[in-house]
Amino acid sequence: MANLIVLGSGGPIPNADRFGTSHVVQSGGRNFLFDCGPAATYKLAKHGLSSLDFDYVFISHHHFDHVADLPAFLLTRWDHSIGDETPLKVFGPENTELMIDRLIGEEGAFAFDWKARVNHPLSQQMHQLRGGDLPRPKPEFDVSDVSTGVILEGEGFRVTSQRIEHVEPQLQANAYRLDTDDISIVFTGDARPCDHVIDLAKGADVLVSMCGNFQSELESKGVGSGQIGSLSAAEMAAEAGVGQLVMVHMGPDISSEAGRVRAVAEMSPIFQGEIIVTDELNSYDLHRKDASASPRVDIEKHTHIFRDM
Ligand SMILES: [Zn+2]
Repeated sequence: MANLIVLGSGGPIPNADRFGTSHVVQSGGRNFLFDCGPAATYKLAKHGLSSLDFDYVFISHHHFDHVADLPAFLLTRWDHSIGDETPLKVFGPENTELMIDRLIGEEGAFAFDWKARVNHPLSQQMHQLRGGDLPRPKPEFDVSDVSTGVILEGEGFRVTSQRIEHVEPQLQANAYRLDTDDISIVFTGDARPCDHVIDLAKGADVLVSMCGNFQSELESKGVGSGQIGSLSAAEMAAEAGVGQLVMVHMGPDISSEAGRVRAVAEMSPIFQGEIIVTDELNSYDLHRKDASASPRVDIEKHTHIFRDM
């Protein structure tokens, strides 16, 4: 049994219901964090989780709605660690190592903080009260820049990264696929609707897709080919043959009460699996797809997907 906790189901503009992107997959007794948007560490606490419960973090790209809480996540993990945990592995696109070094490294923005916590007697005492020893170690993480391919394999799970198109050349971006003994799930991150994401998701059970707005709204503004909207999400899920399509990174129009109804009504004729319109801080059961239920899809009709030539 696997489940998805949606910590953040919005984009860069906060509203009362949504802000930023961050997701947890729980499977086989492990927690996997995908993106670390604003307040992700606090939202984890609302689910009874802490950064110490994670060994793996996967970053899609470096827009702040996906990484703003990374310093808090990393520093709380270090601050509360007494050395019992597996070292944290962080994966992300180009410049993830550099970004984390500039945040947490010897000369990083938070070096004033952690050097004070390492060296001040009060902080040393707090560390000892938690069970830690002196001298207090400095924060260290196992960070890797990754592109396309299998990036991690463990007992009963494998993670594959796929470089996708979003806002190149300024930022690289990755989609990720997690295969465990009980679920195969793909995160699009922020992507244009394209074959790279479909290929990564082929044979998976679940597609967690950004869905910025109704396709018609995106296309009327001329941004339909640069980001995934309602119809392109449904088309990609249909072509990949997944069983569940989980909508995240939604703007206020599509996530309103009326917007949800309209979105599902427009998407259902294209994708006949389960469509989940997410709310932040909710947890969703993930299911193996019923392979026999996958309908044939007419790729010719999927006109909102950018095709590689
Ligand atoms: Zn975003």
